[in-house]
This record gives sequence, C-alpha cells and structure tokens, in this order.
Amino acid sequence: MFAKLYELLAPEQIEINADMKEHTTFNIGGPADILVLPTCITELNRILDFCREKRMPYVLLGQGSNVLVRDKGIRGMVIKLGNALKQFSISGEEIYAEAGISLSQLAREAAEHGLSGLEFAEGIPGSLGGAVAMNAGAYQGEMKDVVYQVIALDEAGNYKLFSKEQSQFGYRRSIYQNGDYIIVAVRLHLKPGQPEEILSTMQDLARQRQEKQPLEYPSAGSTFRRPPGYYVGPIIEELGLKGFSIGGAQVSSKHAGFIINKGQATAQDVIDLIRYIQEMVREKYGLVLEPEIKILGEE
Ligand SMILES: Cc1cc2nc3c(=O)[nH]c(=O)nc-3n(C[C@H](O)[C@H](O)[C@H](O)COP(=O)(O)OP(=O)(O)OC[C@H]3O[C@@H](n4cnc5c(N)ncnc54)[C@H](O)[C@@H]3O)c2cc1C
Repeated sequence: MFAKLYELLAPEQIEINADMKEHTTFNIGGPADILVLPTCITELNRILDFCREKRMPYVLLGQGSNVLVRDKGIRGMVIKLGNALKQFSISGEEIYAEAGISLSQLAREAAEHGLSGLEFAEGIPGSLGGAVAMNAGAYQGEMKDVVYQVIALDEAGNYKLFSKEQSQFGYRRSIYQNGDYIIVAVRLHLKPGQPEEILSTMQDLARQRQEKQPLEYPSAGSTFRRPPGYYVGPIIEELGLKGFSIGGAQVSSKHAGFIINKGQATAQDVIDLIRYIQEMVREKYGLVLEPEIKILGEE
C-alpha cells in the first residue's frame, strides 16, 4: 500500500505507525497509520496525488500546537508541514512566506526588517499556515489584521488564491479549518516601524506569556473558545477548578484556561476533563463552552 510513497519521498520523510505524542505539543495521542513530512510544495503535490489515487484520507498539520489526537490514533495519513516549506521574502511592506515557517520566526524577521503588525504573534507556537487557518491571535492582534492573500491547494491539487474577505476570518475561524484546502503560502501586509520598538514590544509580550501561561507543561494553548462577553480562565477559576485533574490532565493552576499534560495524560483524560468543565460551566453560568483545540482521530 505504502510502497509507492518510498519512490516519492526519502525514507526519513515517512513514518509508519507514527507516535502522535511526538508530533503534537500536547505530547498526547495514539499512532497515525502513516505520517509524511514533505519538504517542498512539489512533494506535497505528489503526496496529494498518492492520497487521491489510493483514496486515502489525510489530515494536515502544521506543528500540531492546537490539536488533541485521540488515543486510538489517526486512520490514514497525517501530512505534517512542521517547519519545512519555510521560504520567505520581504519587499517593502509586503511579506510572502511559505506556510511551514514558524510564526514566531516570521514575526522576528518582520521586526528586524522594521515591519510592525506581527508583534502579537511572539510566543504563539506553530506554523504560519496553522496560524492563518486558526486566525490565531493574542493581545488585541490576529492574523486577519495582516493577511491579505492566501495561496492554497484544493483536494485535486489545483492552486487557489483567496483574498482576506474570501478567507472569511472570524474569531479563531476561517474557511481553511474544514480540510478542503491546504495553505501553501501567504502574503502579509505590515506597516513600517522602528525595529527596536517592535522588538521591545515583542519581548514585553513574551514576558507576559512566561508569567501567565504554563509554558513549562505540554498543552495545546487555550482549551476553549471565548464565549462573547466572558473570559474563560476566570470562569473556570471561580468554579474552584484550578489545579483540578482527571488522570494526567489538569486545569493549570497558573492559568485556568489551559489544560496541561502533567506527564502521562491520555486523550481520554483530556476529553473527560473538557466535558466535566463544560458541564460545570453550563450548570453554573448557562454558558456553552466550545473547545478551541481540534480533536482528531478515531473515536
Ligand atoms: C503554549 C501555547 C500557547 C498558545 N497561544 C496561543 C495564542 O496566544 N493565540 C492563539 O490563537 N493560539 C495559541 N496557541 C494555539 C496554537 O499555537 C495556534 O492555533 C497555532 O496557530 C496553530 O498552528 P499549528 O501550525 O501548530 O497548527 P496545527 O495545530 O498543526 O493545526 C491546527 C489546525 O489548522 C489546520 N492547518 C494547519 N496548517 C494548515 C495549512 N497549512 N493549511 C490548512 N490548514 C492548516 C489543521 O488542519 C488544524 O485544523 C497556543 C498553543 C500553545 C501550545
């Protein structure tokens, strides 16, 4: 079944029964049948041809920093861009960057070139493609403020160009989350600024993250989407759930909006904890908390 893949990619780019603990920042998850690591867009296209030919379902990952993979793992293929596809160029106030570049690296490159607008991205783990798909944001900034064009492949391997409007960005939402498109590159438009000022703002934000977020434990960032008019952390804290655990999954005692992996958490531990919190919040506040993290794999 997979033999043809070895003609398309080098052996080190293919993992059979890939342990998803090693491919997600939560360090949780059962095996994916096969995981591939393309290094360029041509390889990505070949992989998509293979999936079409073999009718193999696939899931696309950037750096796996916003996902929880279930304990039974993922049937079919995981295509992980990781930190490949990371070419970029800067011309005036415009950046063209491939989707695999780390968002933090891109933010720092922009700062060093005197371009302002990506300061908020300092410390958001993950790839540019994942950040655009999630419309990632923090500290009053989000990707939709700086993205103006997205270059993606559809399932048939055709290139598609999307404007910001066509991307339908909303709070942690975009059209790229339903798996119909793979973002391969992005055009961003930033504003001129002073490198020292931009870098100093970024250092400040990094410090705030260090102080407030449980960066010393594996997690996938904020577990839940923010319901309009509320902050999730304080709601969960008021319920006395800070530090509450199920198995190895714990509501962080540093920031109640994060569920952390204390070491040996299973995906089921995290899912049970999510359900428990949702139930408590519904009872006490009548609010429905929706997970922000993407839960993937076989139920
Ligand atoms: C400690 C910590 C702090 C965090 N802080 C923040 C924060 O402040 N703000 C915030 O918004 N998020 C935050 N996150 C969550 C996460 O880092 C972001 O959502 C990030 O942008 C996800 O990027 P990724 O490459 O890891 O995507 P992944 O987790 O790999 O994928 C996330 C989703 O995007 C899709 N996707 C990924 N790449 C592509 C692509 N090229 N084309 C199409 N779809 C794609 C995937 O299929 C999946 O549905 C944090 C996470 C951690 C662990």
